[in-house]
Amino acid sequence: MNTGVFVEHDGKEFKKVSLEALGGVSKIASEKSGKTFAFLFGEIENPERLLSKGADKVYYFKGQNLYIPETFTKLIQEKIESENINLFICGSTINGRDLAARICAKISASFGEEIVDFKIEGDKVHVKRPVFAGKAYVWEELLREKVVVVIRPNVFQVVEKEGKGDVEEKEIEDVDRLKLKDLKPKEEEEPDVTEADIIVSGGRGVGGPQGFEPLRKLARVLKAALGASRAAVDAGWIDHSHQVGQTGKTVSPSLYIACGISGAMQHLAGMRTSKVIVAINKDPNAPIFEIADYGIIGDLFEIVPALEEEIRKAG
Ligand SMILES: Cc1cc2nc3c(=O)[nH]c(=O)nc-3n(C[C@H](O)[C@H](O)[C@H](O)COP(=O)(O)OP(=O)(O)OC[C@H]3O[C@@H](n4cnc5c(N)ncnc54)[C@H](O)[C@@H]3O)c2cc1C
Repeated sequence: MNTGVFVEHDGKEFKKVSLEALGGVSKIASEKSGKTFAFLFGEIENPERLLSKGADKVYYFKGQNLYIPETFTKLIQEKIESENINLFICGSTINGRDLAARICAKISASFGEEIVDFKIEGDKVHVKRPVFAGKAYVWEELLREKVVVVIRPNVFQVVEKEGKGDVEEKEIEDVDRLKLKDLKPKEEEEPDVTEADIIVSGGRGVGGPQGFEPLRKLARVLKAALGASRAAVDAGWIDHSHQVGQTGKTVSPSLYIACGISGAMQHLAGMRTSKVIVAINKDPNAPIFEIADYGIIGDLFEIVPALEEEIRKAG
């Protein structure tokens, strides 16, 4: 089965979830004798690195480092048809989800959303995905000949293999009806929660914008991203880009440290697949303790700085 993967990057490094898509998922698909095509846009050095991460061929469309939805959709759709690609994969990022939906509509494919596992039986793709806000999982058979899936970050493995194959380079011809006039980078670039291996997250219990400072310090020593509950975001204490949950971002880090978060089901929906969950809460009956691997009952303003100090000492 031929597979296509949308590969995102920041101009220097490829997004981890794109490499996971390339390695993990396409490996399963190519075991059913097929080729894996990587679709790369913008400007990045050494695009051939993708050949050692699971791609057999890289289509490198050169241009500005911008997401141009209609243009990307058109270029990928053409290749899906000419290369007879039956499975197209994106990582669960803002652009990945947008592009997946567009491609799916254009090629009338079946759609697998937020998948955490994947197999091919006969000529049909089966996907495993969370349901009921992450309380259960369901395996689904995707019935159409062409399939588009969006994978959750930190679930599939990045692979290293011998880098064989070629990179076909072409300048982007922009067909988009939307034209971007100006792009302003964020003043302080903090790691994105969907990319992070460790997340330190704060809720209403931090008490205000200043309450995030000890969490930010802990995040720095752990090289972690800063997450938040909706209560903290709605109160205006932190930007929405940090929100984890049903109406925020879905994350699956190796370690999730929830500080002053009660554990409402809408929050759990976005983080319950984290590998290890640590909860810090002064209420011993907080529901977050039901899913936590380690629970610390106490005041986060004492515990978080103490944790930071110990981790710093440990080097
Ligand atoms: C349609 C819908 C969508 C939603 N989407 C989301 C979403 O995406 N993400 C999300 O998070 N929520 C979402 N919510 C809101 C959700 O229901 C909860 O209201 C929210 O998650 C509560 O946030 P919290 O845990 O920070 O606050 P609270 O529930 O108020 O919990 C605060 C916790 O902090 C503890 N605490 C207080 N002070 C301290 C201290 N000093 N030290 C330690 N612990 C302390 C308290 O014991 C308490 O457990 C959604 C709700 C709806 C209806």
